[in-house]
Amino acid sequence: MIIPETHPRYKSLMARDRLVACIKAGITSQQGLIAHGRGEAFDYLIGERTLSSTRRATEVAAAMLLIADKPVLSVNGNVAALVAKEIIELSKLLNAPLEVNIFYRTEARARRIKELLENQGADNVLGDKLDAEIPGIEHARAKVDREGIYSADVVLAPLEDGDRCKALVDMGKKVITIDLNPLSRTSKQASVSIVDNIERAMKNIISALKAGSKSKPDLAALLLNYDNNVNLKAVIEEIRDRLKQEELNVNLK
Ligand code: ATP
Ligand code: MG
Repeated sequence: MIIPETHPRYKSLMARDRLVACIKAGITSQQGLIAHGRGEAFDYLIGERTLSSTRRATEVAAAMLLIADKPVLSVNGNVAALVAKEIIELSKLLNAPLEVNIFYRTEARARRIKELLENQGADNVLGDKLDAEIPGIEHARAKVDREGIYSADVVLAPLEDGDRCKALVDMGKKVITIDLNPLSRTSKQASVSIVDNIERAMKNIISALKAGSKSKPDLAALLLNYDNNVNLKAVIEEIRDRLKQEELNVNLK
């Protein structure tokens, strides 16, 4: 079905179409659809826009990536379906590798994600040589590339699982997540949680990097003054205020 651009839910319907197409192509897992549905529900509550507290988290994330010694960008099946172009652009801007890192791993799916990224222009995709393990999680999900996530100081892990996020933080890494659910274990564990739709978040990170207006000491100061828990609280307050407003609107009718 062709969705007209004037449809009020055009963006959301297009994202669903891309996910379904990527399931058919063996790139995204079926469970990925359910995870996306949970994300959509939170996006509705948020009002499908970037919250101001999230703008702050996004700026901090961009700063963290810019001053990292060895940033790595993790790509799963949903990330590949929704923001392949953007994550490749980010990898080039930062000169950082992408690493295919999927929860329901099959070698065939990992290979297809790598191919999709390379076909779209990525030139540094890790994740087929899983020669190291993240301590503290069960074997199958612990495997990573020694030259990639294992030795990174900053990992961008969008739509990540809570356990793995915690295990990476326990290794001493800074973890930036993108997750629409401010209550998820991932959001609570991360060093910087971007509570936003991944499509908006990736565009905003790229714009912040391209703006490049801050000096290194200014970027470092931005990180020093940031507390992820304080920011999550602000996110929840913004959502609460919006729901209160919605409640008033209902009462007025
Ligand atoms: P956790 O393991 O962190 O407690 P979870 O098990 O509830 O969380 P997962 O299935 O591990 O969640 O990961 C999916 C997460 O990704 C969900 O929290 C969902 O809100 C988020 N998500 C899904 N699609 C998007 C999207 N397009 N943009 C941003 N976030 C999304
Ligand atoms: Mg989970």
